[in-house]
Amino acid sequence: MNKKLYVISGSSGVGKGTVIKGFLNRNPEFILSVSCTTRLPREGEVDGKNYFFLSKEEFQNCIDENKFLEWAEFAGNRYGTKKKYIEQCLEEGKNLILEIDTQGALQVKEQMKEAVLIFIAPPSLSTLENRLRGRHTEDEATIQKRLDEVKEELKRAENFDYKIINDDLERAICELEKIIGDTKC
Ligand code: ADP
Ligand code: 5GP
Repeated sequence: MNKKLYVISGSSGVGKGTVIKGFLNRNPEFILSVSCTTRLPREGEVDGKNYFFLSKEEFQNCIDENKFLEWAEFAGNRYGTKKKYIEQCLEEGKNLILEIDTQGALQVKEQMKEAVLIFIAPPSLSTLENRLRGRHTEDEATIQKRLDEVKEELKRAENFDYKIINDDLERAICELEKIIGDTKC
């Protein structure tokens, strides 16, 4: 299998994290990049595992020092992928997955044409909203900010290489496996 960079995006609450977790359980040779963010940790999130949680100043310093491969502002917080880590993993021939927003995904594609962009879409907008609310991790204002991003996200998704509809979880994971070429389904 070719060593490639796979970039997975989708609206907040669509189930990206759940699909990727299912994929990684079956394909442990893949590495999920750990991003930096200025948002506060959710209950149970661990610094260095879920994210590198940075202050606004620390994040700005990384921008100024050109340390990010890509970064974007999403629903009031900043998120970014460190260049050095990605380059190192790819040089070592590792299979890498980035779970980042659609703005960041398009930035990656501009710099690395070989990157494969995969958009995870909900079966319907009402399902998306129900999943986001049902997760109980955000307050109402934050949920609204995230829902306000959906229209633009769907527009950017038109430039992606693949779209997976996350209706049935097992089916969505299988589709991801087929795209990545490591077909176990
Ligand atoms: P994201 O990472 O895209 O923000 P999550 O992976 O946190 O989304 O999923 C949001 C919620 O939707 C979670 O409660 C998760 O259990 C649920 N979920 C994910 N995929 C499915 C699915 N295929 N069917 C039903 N519920 C799902
Ligand atoms: P959350 O706050 O729910 O963890 O993530 C919010 C959004 O930020 C999601 O769309 C997620 O994919 C995106 N995101 C996470 N890490 C990065 C990153 O490094 N860069 C960019 N551009 N987006 C990211």
